[in-house]
Amino acid sequence: MKLNEYIKAVELLNLYSYHYYVLDDPITTDEVYDKLYHEVVEYEESHKEDILKNSPTQRVGDSVSDGFTKASHLSRMWSLDDVFDSADLQKWLTKTYKLDKNISFYCEPKYDGASLNLIYENGELTKGITRGDGSVGELITQNVKTIRSVPLTIEHRDRIEIRGEVVIYKDEFEKINELRLKNGEAVFANPRNAAAGSLRQLDSSITASRNLVFLPYGVGENTLEHKLLSQKMEYIYSLGFKKPPLHAICRNFEEIEAIYQEMNKNRDSYAMMLDGMVIKVDEIAAQIDMGYTVKNPRFSVAYKFPAVEKITTLREIILQVGRSGVVTPVAVVEPTDIDGVVVERATLHNFDEIDRKDIRLNDKVIILRSGDVIPKIIKVLTNQRDATQEKYQRPSSCPVCGSELLDEGVLLKCQNLTCEARVINSIIYFASKPCLNIDGLGVKIVEALFISGLVKSVVDLFDLTLEKLLTLEGFKEKKAQNLLDALEGAKGSEYWRFLNSLGIEHIGEVASKSLSEKFGSGFIDATKDEIVALDGFGEEMAESVLEFVRVNRETILKLQDILRPLEPKQREEAKENPFKSKSVVLTGSMSESRDVIKEMLEAHGAKVVSSVSKKTDFVIYGEDAGSKYDKAVSLGVAVLSEQEMREKIEQA
Ligand code: NAD
Repeated sequence: MKLNEYIKAVELLNLYSYHYYVLDDPITTDEVYDKLYHEVVEYEESHKEDILKNSPTQRVGDSVSDGFTKASHLSRMWSLDDVFDSADLQKWLTKTYKLDKNISFYCEPKYDGASLNLIYENGELTKGITRGDGSVGELITQNVKTIRSVPLTIEHRDRIEIRGEVVIYKDEFEKINELRLKNGEAVFANPRNAAAGSLRQLDSSITASRNLVFLPYGVGENTLEHKLLSQKMEYIYSLGFKKPPLHAICRNFEEIEAIYQEMNKNRDSYAMMLDGMVIKVDEIAAQIDMGYTVKNPRFSVAYKFPAVEKITTLREIILQVGRSGVVTPVAVVEPTDIDGVVVERATLHNFDEIDRKDIRLNDKVIILRSGDVIPKIIKVLTNQRDATQEKYQRPSSCPVCGSELLDEGVLLKCQNLTCEARVINSIIYFASKPCLNIDGLGVKIVEALFISGLVKSVVDLFDLTLEKLLTLEGFKEKKAQNLLDALEGAKGSEYWRFLNSLGIEHIGEVASKSLSEKFGSGFIDATKDEIVALDGFGEEMAESVLEFVRVNRETILKLQDILRPLEPKQREEAKENPFKSKSVVLTGSMSESRDVIKEMLEAHGAKVVSSVSKKTDFVIYGEDAGSKYDKAVSLGVAVLSEQEMREKIEQA
């Protein structure tokens, strides 16, 4: 790096920091920031005379924005030096051991949020101040008082500063963004920005609505006499503050590395976003001896996790049509490795978001991949545009069937009920685990069934025969029979599964269970008032049920006839007997018609299906029983004569 490059780098870092700290709207990733920052540090180490006063290495955070009253911290707040791999950690440890050999380390998560200083006097919270530039921050006491994990009073009389991070839990973050999307508002890029932005609201009621959480990580001015940081922190937790989800005292490199690996491996399972682990010398006396650089404590370091945000290029926007006809835009991006996974696609939420963010083809964008959620485009880097970007045109016709799309503003919908994408996705949904759980109906097979013309709707599935399936490429007898058996096994399932499989908009598993419990098959005649009266139901859900029934009543009745799902009461109310909740197959001719026997067994809570598998509990046979009887014997399934069945029911 040359002097002029150094000056430019400092300028750029300051611009990045302004967007990050003041506007809560970063214009680059932490990874890019950190890389440039470390280049600046390297230059400064060999050119001490050139160090600029406004270099980010010389100060904490950034200037304080004008909207709030300023307030001073009682003792300074610091930033943290960071290491990115085990070799760097080893170097940091060697340096630290040189200062003191007899030390241990308190390790805890590095929360990805906004730092906050709480001042308590006479046991009362008197001030809440953001970190700001480390000496002076923004006074946001009113907002802080809305955070439920910040005690307003504590059992500690002396003046004390308690420092910690304000975060938004990941599920809460998703909820906030869902609501914002629904209301046509811009979504937050990530939980960190959401937390920092929510904390610095001029209207406290907005802060209150965001469910922020405070996690303490240290103390500033204090009169505590504990010899170890870990003891101080235990004391702080005992005052009513939240504990970290994982923390440990480590004695050496191996122990630190082990807990870091564990934390990184489990990072997705914690409620809050973590961006690393913080390692602090546990002995307070050693901490005091080691002291601080201009910016960081020497006794502490952040061991960062691999980045989950990366910059890539948006190549194309493709469209997916879901079972309800909603057309979703999906971004195809330049393949990018994020923490070991190559990301090629990312969600764009909806067309409004594309307009609002002014996302253009060939834009540089930031994508976030965290846990098993679908990667998202969280930011368009408009400052990096050249002349090659192209505006994206909202589609007006369905990309699959070509019919005109209904433009509802936020959502675009294909209205054609026979659109291939809608049918295929509704069949896949119908067969999925939380619905009828039918094995063998994955994307490829459903597509083949649809394209061959054998299946044009869910109902057609039950007209499939061995002969028909054998006409399909790749279907041999065993595979075909397995599919037929699986379809047969879907019969007599719990009613809520049947209801859920219909794919009514806004009605998921939980709502299907409530509807089913209350009405069973009578749900098709339930009134709006009756549905709204159910716990967790609103107008929109009720209307969705009514509209679905209005359009699909015939299909529902037909499917019900084929599938005979068990009325919830039937199963629950059946007295204890050997057939309750058991899967039963009938074969051979009986003393009464099969339907009568079937009804009798169902009234006793049995699920009567027509083909035998390992999952079958009983095969009940009459005269001239044939292959089903043989199959039961070969699979070791219990076989009972009609007479034995009747005796068992009578005994029960
Ligand atoms: P930092 O975030 O790396 O570390 C210090 C902060 O960590 C503390 O102030 C505290 O708020 C927080 N923290 C969380 N858990 C903690 C714990 N258990 N113990 C102690 N502290 C804990 O430092 P910083 O000075 O706030 O910011 C520098 C970082 O911010 C950079 O490394 C960069 O990744 C990011 N940044 C990004 C941009 C951007 O444009 N993307 C711009 C500026 C800064």
